[in-house]
Amino acid sequence: MNTLSTLAPKHFKRPGSAPTVMIVGAGPVGLSLAILLKKWGVSFRIIERNAGPSTATKAMAIHSRTLEIFRDLGVAEQAISDGFTINQFSVQSNAKRVLNYNFSYLDAPYPLLLSLPQPQTEKILLERLKALGAEVEWNTELVDIENLPGSVSMTLKHADGTDEHFTSRWVAACDGARSNIRKRLDMTFEGSSYDRFFMLADADIEWSGSKDEGAFFLGAQDGYVAVAPISAQSRYRLFIEMPYNLPPEGERPSLSLENFQRLCEGRGQKMTLSNISSTTIASFQHRRVQSMQQGSVFLLGDSAHIGSPIGGQWMNLGVSEAYNLAWKMAYVDQGLANPSLLDSYNEERYPVALEVENTAHRLTGLITVQRRALVWLRDNVLPLLSNRKKAQRKLPSMISGHQYHYEKSDYIQESLTKKQRKNWSKKGKKPEFQTAPPRAGQLAPDVELWQLQGMPTKRLIDLFHGTFTLLIFSAADQFSPLLPGYYTLAKSVEKDYPGIKAYCVIDALSGAGLPAWHSTLLDPDWRLHKRYHAKEGTMMLIRPDGYIAFLGADAITLMTYLNVRSGLLKGARTTISCETEAVELQL
Ligand SMILES: Cc1cc2nc3c(=O)[nH]c(=O)nc-3n(C[C@H](O)[C@H](O)[C@H](O)COP(=O)(O)OP(=O)(O)OC[C@H]3O[C@@H](n4cnc5c(N)ncnc54)[C@H](O)[C@@H]3O)c2cc1C
Repeated sequence: MNTLSTLAPKHFKRPGSAPTVMIVGAGPVGLSLAILLKKWGVSFRIIERNAGPSTATKAMAIHSRTLEIFRDLGVAEQAISDGFTINQFSVQSNAKRVLNYNFSYLDAPYPLLLSLPQPQTEKILLERLKALGAEVEWNTELVDIENLPGSVSMTLKHADGTDEHFTSRWVAACDGARSNIRKRLDMTFEGSSYDRFFMLADADIEWSGSKDEGAFFLGAQDGYVAVAPISAQSRYRLFIEMPYNLPPEGERPSLSLENFQRLCEGRGQKMTLSNISSTTIASFQHRRVQSMQQGSVFLLGDSAHIGSPIGGQWMNLGVSEAYNLAWKMAYVDQGLANPSLLDSYNEERYPVALEVENTAHRLTGLITVQRRALVWLRDNVLPLLSNRKKAQRKLPSMISGHQYHYEKSDYIQESLTKKQRKNWSKKGKKPEFQTAPPRAGQLAPDVELWQLQGMPTKRLIDLFHGTFTLLIFSAADQFSPLLPGYYTLAKSVEKDYPGIKAYCVIDALSGAGLPAWHSTLLDPDWRLHKRYHAKEGTMMLIRPDGYIAFLGADAITLMTYLNVRSGLLKGARTTISCETEAVELQL
């Protein structure tokens, strides 16, 4: 058996020079971006005004798509081993399940919701960053900033009171909801406040409820109670809704164990609480900037948007923004892509942020509705709709992060003739084509790659990390007369575009007889062809963030897309050395 070491994923290194990116804020979003830039070899500084990591009680829900991103960051396994797997989350009203999110229905490598308190997530990210050889500059605050043509100048204040003036090519504003950068750049943050607040605590809870399921319990006039498990030892994060405006300091409810116990009982929950910690009071607003980019400054995470905590979306959203931006910065920085590619960050991410805000807002409305007629509809009609099999399958993907797409992006193209599309949808009726055909602008589905028995599992998504990936489907075995043409195309794409790695997908059990110089994905049981609804000559270009950039079926359209629309630079010569992590593919 031969093996072929591919060049994917590619992580580029550049010789030492002044940092290209200034990351402001070492919350989960800033740390994620720093790890990605480090992996890509883009030079950066990351500053944080606090003296050390935050211990605040904030996010605990890490969604399935974020775990895929964490896989690329190299922290997914650690997060899963430190966290607790939640299989289901339900909304219950008067002992009826109104909505049920069963995460095992997700067609994804991590069909689960991970519960991990934010300080632990940040600790894992920080350790990973350190292991990669980068450090956060603590006690360093950005106090002023100015967008210049092609660069950003800023003033930093250090703990000893000294000022430092610094200029970088780009700034990533990961400085949270009270972003000073947003204010300094006169960017508005429009929206409003919710007329309610929450009391939160981590507690040991004895009750008859499930140990691996989270739930909202509605039905009490005083507000709802929600619980989410954080460990197998009956430890939970407890949310108590207080349906009125946050009172001034001194008039706020006590955060004592007795008060939490009393509030739960008052809302009809038979729970015995003990050993409470991480208690806090939080009120929420929903606000957003008008654009997530101004000149060379990019806003990510809470600096760009905040919203209702229901659905646990906001940290997850910020991490996926970092994932969208990092590879674009790397490709532009290394001369592999046109600088205008960076404009697609706002173009692609702003609509997603609005969608997340709307979904969280609607869920909040559904859960906190008070009018009797609407409560009746929610409790009696919604279960009939949401308990249908189709809805059961769809619900978890509405919050897992997989459904967001960039179909309208200028950098995405789907070029299939009517006939090609028709054939695909006909095939869709066969049982093996049960999943929907992927579209350009959507996430490329993951598939466990075919391996001889006893060989370690390989996943398709791992090929996408650190490079563009071109898949050319042959729908044939190694004797197909069309194969030499596919290989020639693959070779010429790689030659013209050093940021692309090309594979031919072939119905064969081994690479015997195939040209040894090129990369092949063996697909003897057609699992890849089937999952991608691929026919002879189907071509898919997948971006480093796992989104399908191009979907088509002829070489000329692909080459035109690459030349005109992809943002990639033809014939780019990169002088930087390239660090490769070999992915062993069996041939
Ligand atoms: C009670 C609660 C529950 C939540 N639950 C969830 C959940 O389950 N799931 C979810 O996804 N989200 C949840 N969220 C939201 C989540 O906590 C935030 O979305 C997340 O913290 C945003 O990360 P960030 O890195 O953008 O900002 P932050 O975490 O706010 O980090 C910003 C950092 O920038 C630093 N900084 C600010 N200004 C400067 C400056 N001028 N110079 C240098 N440094 C600066 C700050 O000190 C801070 O460390 C919850 C929030 C709360 C309050």
